[in-house]
Amino acid sequence: MRRAAACTNGCPKSGPCVRSSYLVAECRTQTTKKREVGFGPARALAQPMMAMLKSCAFSGIDAFPIEVEVDVASGNLPSYHVVGLPTPSVREGAVRIRASLEHIGQSMPRKKVTVNLAPADRRKEGAAFDLPIALTVLGAEGLLDLERLRGFLVMGELGLDGAVRGVRGMLSAGLMARDEGMQGIVVPLSCAQEAAEVSGIEVLAIEHLSEIVEYCRGAHIEPQKPAGLPALAPQSLRCDMSEVRGQASARVALEVAVAGGHNLLLVGPPGTGKTMLARRIPTILPPLTHDEALETTRIYSSLSLNNGRLLRTRPFRAPHHTISSPALVGGGSPPVAGEISLAHNGVLFLDELPEFQRSTLESMRQPLEDRRMVIGRVSGRIELPASVLLAASANPCPCGWLGCEERQCICTLAQIDRYRARLSGPLLDRMDLQIFVPNVQLGELRDQVAGESSAAIRERVLEARARQLHRLADYGCRTNAEMGPKATRETCTLTSAAERALKRLYEVRRGMSARAVDRIIKVSRTIADLLGEETIDDGCLLEAASYRSLDLDPGPKLPPLSTSDSSPIDSISVSASEPRSIR
Ligand SMILES: [Zn+2]
Repeated sequence: MRRAAACTNGCPKSGPCVRSSYLVAECRTQTTKKREVGFGPARALAQPMMAMLKSCAFSGIDAFPIEVEVDVASGNLPSYHVVGLPTPSVREGAVRIRASLEHIGQSMPRKKVTVNLAPADRRKEGAAFDLPIALTVLGAEGLLDLERLRGFLVMGELGLDGAVRGVRGMLSAGLMARDEGMQGIVVPLSCAQEAAEVSGIEVLAIEHLSEIVEYCRGAHIEPQKPAGLPALAPQSLRCDMSEVRGQASARVALEVAVAGGHNLLLVGPPGTGKTMLARRIPTILPPLTHDEALETTRIYSSLSLNNGRLLRTRPFRAPHHTISSPALVGGGSPPVAGEISLAHNGVLFLDELPEFQRSTLESMRQPLEDRRMVIGRVSGRIELPASVLLAASANPCPCGWLGCEERQCICTLAQIDRYRARLSGPLLDRMDLQIFVPNVQLGELRDQVAGESSAAIRERVLEARARQLHRLADYGCRTNAEMGPKATRETCTLTSAAERALKRLYEVRRGMSARAVDRIIKVSRTIADLLGEETIDDGCLLEAASYRSLDLDPGPKLPPLSTSDSSPIDSISVSASEPRSIR
């Protein structure tokens, strides 16, 4: 057997080593082991050192607390391990942390560094742990006293030069820190404004790792102040309802829908202004309240879509009809919010509704009803808010001209049937107002008199919403559309004439679902609110019923959805087709 040369690196092994280069490490291993169990002065070196900081991770849009523990121990070889279900983005942090520490004149210890992210059984992802890990490494090395950060939650991604970059979910992190009774939160400057909107916690905004190191050594950082919500003033939007020519009945329907938060379907031939009307819905919506802004910003922040700021206007989301179900209602792995959640407290507009995949539309039914989306996974259940005003547009038939006097429809009954079958009954049932938007006459189009402005309409909407808010305060909802069965029963008082009209309506429209009746009552409550009336009279009720034109028999005879066509309420001889004194 060949014998190698003796070990030359201070190995205390007496005899010559048996194998070549490999043996040096082997000999050292033996030496270290001996020292660790208590041989001489090396014992102090082997004493592990530990430090801990608070941070947080996310499940959906909710933050949950994480303890970042770092243990630095003398090892046989320098190493860096992260445990606690980290994703690759967390592990890669080692490279960023090492480079950042070198930029502030420190270095990653040439020892055995173990990072534990507790609780260990929940998945952690993202680069937000870079900053707490870097600080905890310095703390564990005894180079930094972390006492001043004891009551703080620390988050931030590190650049290679030690710059602290923005991370997602800062608003949820701030809310969690407050709920956990923490003193404050250390955040990147680029998204500090978002965290500063949470009252009751101190927000320390930093741009560079060195700033927080100096803070730990006694320097002062001025806490970030909240910017507030100037958007409580009317929303500055580029379009206005005054630009819409004609369409008197559609304008009133839009006003009713917005006042009560009801879903709205606009049906009409191409080019009549359905999309134009829908895009002006945000201009007559009430401004976001601070609480609503926080709710919606949390969702945007979880996807880094808000530039580190609080949302100031109500969202208007208009996804293309090729969208998939997970993108619309939320999903994926890990689950993220879909368009319906991104439109929370605002408008979700689905242009050309029958062009969407039927399965995609069906996936919206439950979140539309519950006003929240629940995504179930083996690892847990995620809940996302989804309280939206759903606006949609559709053509009456594939060619688009069914029911129009100006042009002949060229579709066969089978084609029309197939087209309409793309929208399921349960989905249409959830559309509280189904309005026919006819062609505009040339006279109206060239009319120099502008229509009523968004500001004037919004005034009435605000009044109606204030009435709802006052009346529904005890029921935990804000608009008539959100009312549950109890609130509907107790707050929607019908006059005896309205009760009779409802009974007759139910007889005339055979097959009308209980949900449709419930929704007619809710819409009539909104019409009464716009009129400033306490009880719902027969006029309000029949006007609400006149907005549901698709409740008519949608069979092959196809009533053409037109307001001029046989109205279900003709037989009750109340003229509700002409909206009353809302304006
Ligand atoms: Zn047609």
